[in-house]
Amino acid sequence: MIIPGGESTTISRILFKSGVYDAILQRLRQDTLYIMGTCAGCVLLAKEIVGNKDDVKLLHAMDMQVERNAFGRQKESFEKSIRIKGFSEPYNAIFIRAPTIKKVWGKCEILSEIDKKIIAARQDKFLALSFHPELTTDLRIHEYFLEMIV
Ligand code: GLN
Repeated sequence: MIIPGGESTTISRILFKSGVYDAILQRLRQDTLYIMGTCAGCVLLAKEIVGNKDDVKLLHAMDMQVERNAFGRQKESFEKSIRIKGFSEPYNAIFIRAPTIKKVWGKCEILSEIDKKIIAARQDKFLALSFHPELTTDLRIHEYFLEMIV
């Protein structure tokens, strides 16, 4: 499953109202679901959220704490060449009102950081990214996720 970017409040509300939230939680309990979460999706994968929570209902899948809009407002959106653990070449990442991962613990592994801000992490069947891999033609993140599954 891929939980895309957008608005984590809206996505979480729709997941909850439609019953998909409970269906996902059930699959998480069965340990049968792989999830890649990008941007707002990254927020939803977290166990904790700091700052503006609104009524985001988290999936509590990963041992990490996130902060929404951690780089600022829409006009502070940016592109940056980053290093990702396991990637031999840099990756051009697009950040749009992006969250950061403030801290990780337990089994959650940091895959990338910029300026001491964590922007990618992995734990078991889950991959969380604060940026938008679907907006570039570089498929390495998608390939990485597929390799986790097969
Ligand atoms: N700022 C949004 C949120 O907190 C995420 C933005 C995005 O997904 N591009 O949900």
